[in-house]
Amino acid sequence: MSKIPLGVSQCLMGEQVRFDGGHKHNHYLTDVLSEYFEFRPVCPEVAIGLGIPRKPIRLVIVGDETRVRGIANPDQDVTDALVDQAELAIARMPDICGYIFMQKSPSCGAFGMKRYLANGYSIDSKGRGAYAKRVMELVPLLPVEEAGRLNDAGLRDNFLTRVFAYHDFKTSVAEAPTAKKLIEFYSRYKYQVMAHHVPSYFAIGRYLSNLSGRDISICSNEFFRLLMEALAHHATRKSNTNAIMHLRGYLKDRLNTQEKHELSQLIDSYRTGIVPLVVPLTLLKHHLLKLDNPYLKSQTFWSPHPERLGLRNHIIENE
Ligand code: SF4
Repeated sequence: MSKIPLGVSQCLMGEQVRFDGGHKHNHYLTDVLSEYFEFRPVCPEVAIGLGIPRKPIRLVIVGDETRVRGIANPDQDVTDALVDQAELAIARMPDICGYIFMQKSPSCGAFGMKRYLANGYSIDSKGRGAYAKRVMELVPLLPVEEAGRLNDAGLRDNFLTRVFAYHDFKTSVAEAPTAKKLIEFYSRYKYQVMAHHVPSYFAIGRYLSNLSGRDISICSNEFFRLLMEALAHHATRKSNTNAIMHLRGYLKDRLNTQEKHELSQLIDSYRTGIVPLVVPLTLLKHHLLKLDNPYLKSQTFWSPHPERLGLRNHIIENE
């Protein structure tokens, strides 16, 4: 499989582009994820000509706007240049399937950035870096995360699940959508969507049952929106257990008493937070794959991302 293109803050690749001439090398990206992703590094501050090293900048509230201004020189305002840089980057990289930003940067920070008043007082942490903000406005369904937050197993699992689904849809449906392709695509994601958000599972099912006579390009975009919004909900132990119980229904009359007991015990251990998801899932998959049912075999719920990443080996989701 060719590598999936991802946008990334350049300093995370170990390049010395920070304001102080340093970097923020993230080894998980360069040593682990690089096996699956082709990183497209961008440093928006260097791209707008700020130089290395450079004087630091920060988010400043001016009227009802958030601007990016110099700390030492408040007359320096680079907001519009950073916004332009985001537009250029997205035009240059229309094929990216996600973006990993450096946190705490007035350009790249995607969540909870500190904002200041003109007098230098910090007022809240509700800001977003000007470059990251524009990227997220331009491609609202693009999976986005900060490198620091990827240390959280649950956030990492959710982000990579969305990136693989995004890439799957872009490469198998988006370019030439048909009703058949949409339905076949979703049939692979049903249990995964159920595990993330049950109301979306029903909403998407209803939506796809009513495609005849409609503009399929519009339907494709709407389906994709519903799918990405569903996957943005975090799967919990409760919702994963619900999907597992539905899948277990296929084994009714197929297992002997001891096998049923063993499977029930593992599901219960997962439900109560004693073992990770991979434990009941491995046994369930073992039994279900023996049925040789193509629909069940094709479910992305088994492996929403490569098993070699081991993302499900340690994570015990919130209840
Ligand atoms: S956080 Fe963004 S702007 Fe700052 S050094 Fe890294 S890539 Fe450049």
